[in-house]
Amino acid sequence: MKFKEAKLRVIEIRKLLSKWSKEYYENNAPIVDDLLYDELLFELSFLEEKFSELIIKDSPTQIVGSPLESSSFLKTEHIIPMLSLKNAFNNQDLKHFNKQINEFTSDYNYYVEPKIDGLSISLLYKNGNLFRALTRGDGMIGEDVTNNVKQIKNIPHKINNLSNIEFRGEIYIPLTEFEVINEKKFESGEQLFANPRNAASGTLRQLDPQVVSDRNLEAIIYWAMNYDSNDYVWHTQSKTIKEISKLGFGTFDSSQKASNITEVIKAIEIIGSDRYKLNYEIDGIVVKVNNSDLYPIIGHTSKFPKWSIAYKFPAKIEETILLDIFPTVGRTGRVTYNAKLKPVKIDGTIVQKATLHNADYIRDLDLRIGDTVKIKKAGEIIPKVISVSLKKRKKDFKIWKEFNKCQKCNKNFIRKNNEVDQYCINFNCPSILLESIIHFSSREAMNIEGLSTKQIEKFIELNWIKDVSDIYKIKNRREELLKLEGYQEKSVTSLINSIEKTKNNYLSQLLFGLGIRHIGKKTSKDLSNKFHSLDIIINSTIETLLSQDDLGEVKSQSIIKYFNNKKNIKLLKDLNSLGVNPKSKFIDVDKNNKFFEKKIVITGIIEGLNRIEAKNYFESLGANVMSSISETTDFLISGKNSSKNKLKKIDKNKVIKLKKINDLVV
Ligand code: NAD
Repeated sequence: MKFKEAKLRVIEIRKLLSKWSKEYYENNAPIVDDLLYDELLFELSFLEEKFSELIIKDSPTQIVGSPLESSSFLKTEHIIPMLSLKNAFNNQDLKHFNKQINEFTSDYNYYVEPKIDGLSISLLYKNGNLFRALTRGDGMIGEDVTNNVKQIKNIPHKINNLSNIEFRGEIYIPLTEFEVINEKKFESGEQLFANPRNAASGTLRQLDPQVVSDRNLEAIIYWAMNYDSNDYVWHTQSKTIKEISKLGFGTFDSSQKASNITEVIKAIEIIGSDRYKLNYEIDGIVVKVNNSDLYPIIGHTSKFPKWSIAYKFPAKIEETILLDIFPTVGRTGRVTYNAKLKPVKIDGTIVQKATLHNADYIRDLDLRIGDTVKIKKAGEIIPKVISVSLKKRKKDFKIWKEFNKCQKCNKNFIRKNNEVDQYCINFNCPSILLESIIHFSSREAMNIEGLSTKQIEKFIELNWIKDVSDIYKIKNRREELLKLEGYQEKSVTSLINSIEKTKNNYLSQLLFGLGIRHIGKKTSKDLSNKFHSLDIIINSTIETLLSQDDLGEVKSQSIIKYFNNKKNIKLLKDLNSLGVNPKSKFIDVDKNNKFFEKKIVITGIIEGLNRIEAKNYFESLGANVMSSISETTDFLISGKNSSKNKLKKIDKNKVIKLKKINDLVV
């Protein structure tokens, strides 16, 4: 590339990166995937390296974060600038980092820690008292979020050390809390947080400290400096972590020393392979020289310390061809666009479909049928199209146009109050029926095991299912079922049994399964715990509903509207006459079980249950499952690989060791 061409490209990339950073850092609402951001940043550094005359002071390659233009918080200068971290993407990069450290000293070892995907925080203590907390901001100036930080339970207001110390770490939202927050947002029709990092940042930068308190943020601290003498307080990173923990701060579940770069690579593998067991997201591993007295000697650039590097986990991304774009209609009538892809293997599974969200997302990426696109798969999340290769686009690929009609019922899609999303508002639409039956029978609602989407589609096609009550009439079609392909005596009996089994489910499961607008899992549980009977909820007045905590105007009106609809009342009567007789959670629960209405925290892995199932299990016993330990915690349930930190913070008598769920004595 020639200089003139490079100059134009550099200007173009900088413009895009600044726009994306503003949305990401200031508004906590990224408009592109991190990978796309990182790719362009990489291209920019490459061009700036090649043509050094193009480097400017405020290029995204030189600055930290983003300017705090629209912040409503008081802005304060950091005593010591807060930098970012240089990235390593493979072992080669780590070895190169090691070689650079070798140029300064031969007497060193490393410390390896998870890289938490939260937001950095600086905490200033004077005479043992927390007096100021600042976000990283642009690295030089941060936002004063002291009042909000004081709501975080594992940041002590007082510590047993009178030196003037600045601590640094990361504020994050535990994954279990993230689910609750997005669930609440979904219920009140608000835009969901894109990921836990944005949720943590969006919460900490709220003006109302009560919101911070309600959302149970947590912190992990990994850095301490005496800001009078500019000395690292404990001289090695390993000692720093131990001492920080003794002062009452949250520290890592796993971190370790490594004598050389080969041991670092091994440690990365070990911490990396256990990452999905953690209750917070990590996007890599931070490698630090252990002896902090060497830091001033090794030094830093304007953006990174040179004594540390962040190894980023490889993203699960592949390129493939976009064969088609098609809409699906969800149970609320909302339209989601999907990509049909040329099958491609990502992380061991074949992917042939990915989400495209809404029409705006497709237009922003300017996707066209035939394009070569990049697909990303992250954790258990549905694959996503994240970028398009313009170089591989052929001239005859046509600009994509959004669908105006539902392909299933042929009725026009509409947009409510200029919302981004389109809706199908025909309540007899077969797509809406299919999705509402899938929702009703899903694990979190009525949990009808063995009733697959394929079967539901078939039963709708045969006109056997016209609403959810028809599921309970399937047992009368035993002979007809046996005539269908793929059904034998055994499979028919098993399907009928699993449907019958759900007739006495909890009230909260039925309420959630009905799909009442704005009423999600949490509100369904709250309603069931407060009213104990479906009849009482049906006959509640708006005043009664509004007088309940957590049930605002939107949810209360939605409940009233749902039960004022004669069609819905008929559906509930039909369900009742077919034997569906839900129980309030606490009617079924033995109130003498030792977890009933107790505050518990779960740490580690309990064999037989994943994180969410473990939470649901204890909730079904009437327990309140919290994510962090406080003075009022009644029990800590400790599974395999439990957090040492949590175990340290609680009285031994309150710890219940539980490797397998079957071993539990209630
Ligand atoms: P970073 O998040 O990649 O790394 C630096 C930060 O890591 C530090 O400031 C610190 O807060 C944190 N950290 C976590 N664990 C740590 C540990 N154990 N020790 C030390 N520090 C630790 O860098 P960044 O400058 O904050 O942000 C860059 C990232 O943000 C990139 O991944 C980029 O993709 C993303 N980004 C995305 C968009 C977008 O639009 N999607 C926009 C801007 C930035």
